[in-house]
Amino acid sequence: MIKFSYAKRVISGITSVGMLALFFLCSMPVAAENQTDAYTEISDAAGLMAVANAPEGNYRLTADIDLGESEWQPIPFSGKLDGAGHTLYNLHVTATGKDKRVTRDGNLKEYDTEFAGLFSVMENAEVKDLSLKGAFVDISGKGSCFAAILSGYSDGSTVSGCSVEGRVHMINNGVNAGVAGVAGYGTGVFEECKADVELVFEDRYTEGKCEQFLGGIMSCGIGDFKSCDVNINAYDSCHGYVHNGGIVGMFYRCGMKYSKRSITSCYVEGQISFFEDNKDRRAYCKPFGGEFLTAPKINSNNKHKLTINETKDYSKVLSPEACEKPDYETTVTPPDCTNWGYTKHTCRTCDYSWIDSYTPPQHDADKWVTVSESDYEHEGLKRQYCKKCGNLISEKTIPLKSADKEKDKKSADNSNVTVWAIAASSGILLILEIAAIIYSHKRNKAAESEGTDSEKTDDNDEIS
Ligand SMILES: [Zn+2]
Ligand SMILES: [Zn+2]
Repeated sequence: MIKFSYAKRVISGITSVGMLALFFLCSMPVAAENQTDAYTEISDAAGLMAVANAPEGNYRLTADIDLGESEWQPIPFSGKLDGAGHTLYNLHVTATGKDKRVTRDGNLKEYDTEFAGLFSVMENAEVKDLSLKGAFVDISGKGSCFAAILSGYSDGSTVSGCSVEGRVHMINNGVNAGVAGVAGYGTGVFEECKADVELVFEDRYTEGKCEQFLGGIMSCGIGDFKSCDVNINAYDSCHGYVHNGGIVGMFYRCGMKYSKRSITSCYVEGQISFFEDNKDRRAYCKPFGGEFLTAPKINSNNKHKLTINETKDYSKVLSPEACEKPDYETTVTPPDCTNWGYTKHTCRTCDYSWIDSYTPPQHDADKWVTVSESDYEHEGLKRQYCKKCGNLISEKTIPLKSADKEKDKKSADNSNVTVWAIAASSGILLILEIAAIIYSHKRNKAAESEGTDSEKTDDNDEIS
């Protein structure tokens, strides 16, 4: 009894230690140098989409990712994402995310609003050292809606060292709406961000006048915009109120609690073409902020080479493609050993062009070469090098030569011999048996003719 309870305690002790160890193992981060650095690694599109299951998590990219396999569904994000210098290629968004938030116009009137981008909404998120290339956010909004490449909405988020390259197009059917390079609506810090973007806003809202916003970094909101670099190509056809800026469309607190408000050391180049088909015309369009309802600190290091083209012809929707009947030439630049390839579409008539369909780097694989053959004790090695750069692409081992295999082969041969022997002997036995039957039959016939009953003889034998 004493022994039993002692053993039980020992077992239960071992189990507890085991459980504790298991608990610590399970709660250990995927890759952590210490607890504060714990993060989940992302290396493919599925991994990035899985962020939706834990939006408050801490993530790091370990590879460039092609998102072009299928259309992206915008996801909410409130964690940390370290791009680690990697790029997301071919983001294609045509639908807003599920997450709605309230947005406000210049009179603090509220609108239930939808958002589109890589993220639908960012809240207290941190995103750094991430690039997006070949992005196309193409939204036909049903109501109030904001779209941008990184996120449609931002509340108190910090975006640093990030760059976006691509197109954001919106057909607007709501009151409060906007397009931007990095973030649509809200608050945040945007530091050392780059935007090389084509922004197109077409207003089809007919029940009144829309509040329209467009900005290289953010379309409407406040925050710190530091050392941002914008190359903008924008077309805005609006029948309501225009707010267009190279950095921010309308600089405004929007009723949100946020104290950061500056535009410092930013650079803007490119052009904004727009019309404001509205008798109550204000037509806010300026290089850094279209309209300032909340005053930011603006330093003298902001520079621009922005061209503003306002037209009063409201009959034709403004578009980067100027031709009635565009004639496109498609040029595919294949990838090489280190750079992604891409497709460029250029109109032969007006020279308008855009880039999409990035394809991952590819080596030109040469034939496999045998580095060492295998023997009975050592595996061999094969390698494959790139024809162009000479880099090792892949290698594989050549399995051990198997003595057993030789033996197996021999025994297989032997067993074949056995089978044949059995078959042959069976044949001989069969022949002998048939011969015996024939012989016995003949003997019986002979006996019958002599009047002797062989069966009787047998019976007699049994009796005796
Ligand atoms: Zn053209
Ligand atoms: Zn190569």
